[in-house]
Amino acid sequence: MYNKDNVFYKILNSELSAKVIYENDCALAFYDINPRKKIHALVITRGLYTNFSDFVSQASPQEVKDFFDTVAKVADILGVSQTGYRILSNIGSDSGQEVEHFHVHILGGEKLSVSL
Ligand code: 5GP
Repeated sequence: MYNKDNVFYKILNSELSAKVIYENDCALAFYDINPRKKIHALVITRGLYTNFSDFVSQASPQEVKDFFDTVAKVADILGVSQTGYRILSNIGSDSGQEVEHFHVHILGGEKLSVSL
């Protein structure tokens, strides 16, 4: 069950500011407030989904495609498409998911260790 009391909902609704990288009809991309790598961006859906499982089961195929196309576009904008990057999405409590609004992390700008 989606709970609107989360920081990404507030960013989507301009109640909280974020350093925006790119936005379109389906997604909003901005820098993580606490970067763990030289480049650490987040891409969130405009639709209200709690996590990846919720997104792929509830969103239309077009929305899923548009979202992941947007992730790739943001990687281009960040300049990591050629050098390489990692996408990561935490799902649920064992993963340590902090914000219960579906998002993908884009990590790059440096060599990434095999371990997460
Ligand atoms: P999760 O653990 O849910 O996959 O990751 C949530 C991410 O959101 C964390 O990396 C955290 O640093 C980031 N974050 C939490 N609050 C804010 C915020 O208010 N603004 C931004 N830009 N990032 C946030």
